[in-house]
Amino acid sequence: MPSIYLIDVTNRDGVQTAKLGLSKLEKTMINIYLDEMGVFQSEFGFPTTRHETYYLQANLEMVEMGILKRIRLGGWIRAIVEDVETTFRLVPKIKHLNLSISTSDQMITGKFQGRKTRKDIVRDMVEAVKAARARGAETIGVNAEDASRTDLGFLIEFALAAKEAGADRFRYCDTLGYDNPFTIYDTCRRLAEETGMPIELHCHGDLGMAVANSVAGAKGVIDGGQDAYINTTINGIGERAGNADLIAVILAVTKSKGFAEKYRLAGNIRLNLASKIANFTSYAFSVPIPINQPGVGANAFAHASGIHADGVLKDPQNYELYGYEELGRGEPIKVETGREIITGQYTGIAGFRHVMGKLDVSFEGMTQKEINDILELVRYANVETHKPLVEDELLFIARYPQIAKKLLTMTPLAYD
Ligand SMILES: [Zn+2]
Repeated sequence: MPSIYLIDVTNRDGVQTAKLGLSKLEKTMINIYLDEMGVFQSEFGFPTTRHETYYLQANLEMVEMGILKRIRLGGWIRAIVEDVETTFRLVPKIKHLNLSISTSDQMITGKFQGRKTRKDIVRDMVEAVKAARARGAETIGVNAEDASRTDLGFLIEFALAAKEAGADRFRYCDTLGYDNPFTIYDTCRRLAEETGMPIELHCHGDLGMAVANSVAGAKGVIDGGQDAYINTTINGIGERAGNADLIAVILAVTKSKGFAEKYRLAGNIRLNLASKIANFTSYAFSVPIPINQPGVGANAFAHASGIHADGVLKDPQNYELYGYEELGRGEPIKVETGREIITGQYTGIAGFRHVMGKLDVSFEGMTQKEINDILELVRYANVETHKPLVEDELLFIARYPQIAKKLLTMTPLAYD
């Protein structure tokens, strides 16, 4: 029976969002948390973007070292041979790629301005897929940007050409959030049936339906006999009105009326890390979680009105669809109200020892130079984030200073 897989694109769609960004260390922490949650793949960045090179290489090394255990790391590039070549020159160990090109007539006339025809688009994509395969890519997804405004006949032709060239998956991009659950069901079912390919759903929230469309699209794909891959972002952060929220998608697939009886999430998703990953990502982006966010919002389990409070106290299931413990909530949050020693870009050794001591990190057996080096890395990490590092980030740096050093290394204009 085909299943639903999750491909989180926070580190790609999320970071290309206007006014928002993440440091390389924050992106790395998100990959670690996604891995712990059991998410199938993280679209971890842009292999042709030079300031990402060391970050991408370092995260691939973390896979080799077993720090990232199960998750696949996939890069996003344009579906042209030039991008494939740059990718394998800068990040030779990359194994999973998604190649993207616009397919709608709107984009052909409005974006390419007549420089590309449908034929050119298919040809560029086919050559890029073959080049990626030849250079050792293990899985290749082909993205049809603006697929929901693309003629279905052409979309099928495009996907079949991708499959013949060696692509493993087809990404249906509802780039503008134009679909509704009914249209995306029909389209994605047809695509699955006609192409025999696993289909990725990439949905945006311009009409408030990103999660609903992802679930309906996945049902269409599975009813069409193929595996479905839902693209998510943490807290729904993504271009404009955002993408399908990771936690809401997991809740919708596993908890909505009768859905999970036939349509199952692949792997072993640990929903009890939901609160942690949502709060870290909120802190990293400096974007608060909306009070009414499904599962992780401050009001998701709050009851004030008499009838509801009385009902939920008698039996939580009266007014709650799922328990807060399932999302890893319920632990009291400790807030320092007295003296605080915080690490920053100008931290000294005494303050650093104090902070690490509170985290039970022992520097026993380390030389003074090794301790100073870790402090230096913490300072550099802070230069990028301008806010105190969280405990997990400090522990990461202390445990893997060489990886941290690589993540923090950037040399502009060092073109070969
Ligand atoms: Zn997108």
